[in-house]
Amino acid sequence: RPHTQGDAQFLEDESTKIFARKVADHYSARSNQTLEEREASPIIHLKKLNNWIKSVLIQLYTRRGDAVLDLACGKGGDLIKWDKAKIGYYVGIDIAEGSIKDCRTRYNGDADHHQRRKKFSFPARLLCGDCYEIRLDKVLADDAPFDICSCQFALHYSWSTEARARRALANVSALLRPGGIFIGTMPDANVIIKKLRQGCWCPTNLSAITVLTEGLAFGNSVYWIRFDEEFSDKKFKSSSPFGIKYTFHLEDAVDCPEWIVPFQVFQKLAEEYDFELVFAKNSHEFVHEYMKKPEFVELMRRLGALGDGNQDQSTLSADEWEAAYLYMSFVLRKRGQPDKT
Ligand code: SAM
Repeated sequence: RPHTQGDAQFLEDESTKIFARKVADHYSARSNQTLEEREASPIIHLKKLNNWIKSVLIQLYTRRGDAVLDLACGKGGDLIKWDKAKIGYYVGIDIAEGSIKDCRTRYNGDADHHQRRKKFSFPARLLCGDCYEIRLDKVLADDAPFDICSCQFALHYSWSTEARARRALANVSALLRPGGIFIGTMPDANVIIKKLRQGCWCPTNLSAITVLTEGLAFGNSVYWIRFDEEFSDKKFKSSSPFGIKYTFHLEDAVDCPEWIVPFQVFQKLAEEYDFELVFAKNSHEFVHEYMKKPEFVELMRRLGALGDGNQDQSTLSADEWEAAYLYMSFVLRKRGQPDKT
């Protein structure tokens, strides 16, 4: 039936909520892996590479005693990285109840995980909530301001509507101190759109996606991306930069709706919320740049993602290295001068 403007708005809000729930349910349902299961993963080296990228970002931009806000913290996979950076306080928030439960277990040092370890040296607050819907400045009024905010592999879930993308940036901006740092890693829209237009297609996954989607999908043995039919003309320029949805499948990791984040639009929007860009780099560029520094080569060697300090993908499979190319990292700084104290 034809609906009024009001109905359309309501329907859009409802479907946005349904997708946010889909994402939350997907991550909630993912159980903790044993060390053996993790090592047997077809993307183990990609996971290690991504951990290296996050560690480098954290080491570059965190100072001893910092107050940290981890948006979409998941199961707390970065807690150890923050501990190594000797932070003073940590707030983690995630929409997936199951992930926050696992994060609490990990923080409390319960023996469910890869290793028993000593307690973390910083106090933490762990919350379940939708970071792109709730006004976090109200919820976290007593915890702010933060010195650094991290949003790893999750900011693209805010790009389903303009309101959510704005809420994400408004939340981070309101909670960071002047001069505070916002770090993140998310899909690289330029790479994804380029691959879609080139029609990069590996037939090994053909059974996983219907033949009808050929031309709207691409991938290899570890991932595939499929756009909705409505984007079949691939003319993203004329459509809204928000709500460009695709389905992302990464072996042993992700299977959910995601949204394109056109980086230039993101940067412009971030400027409205008082952020200036420090840098943005695709993961390949990031590896080449930071593998020039001995301390990060050593970190890579310990994590075991790449071979002994080589700047190539000697232990990552070619397909994992291609999947790494789908991501980029960014660093933004909140305008203003920090207090002298
Ligand atoms: N940041 C963690 C890491 O790097 O290990 C988890 C990354 S995981 C790929 C993406 C996370 O984003 C999931 O834990 C998911 O529940 C969370 N997420 C997605 N949408 C969210 C939202 N609206 N609010 C809070 N968390 C969200």
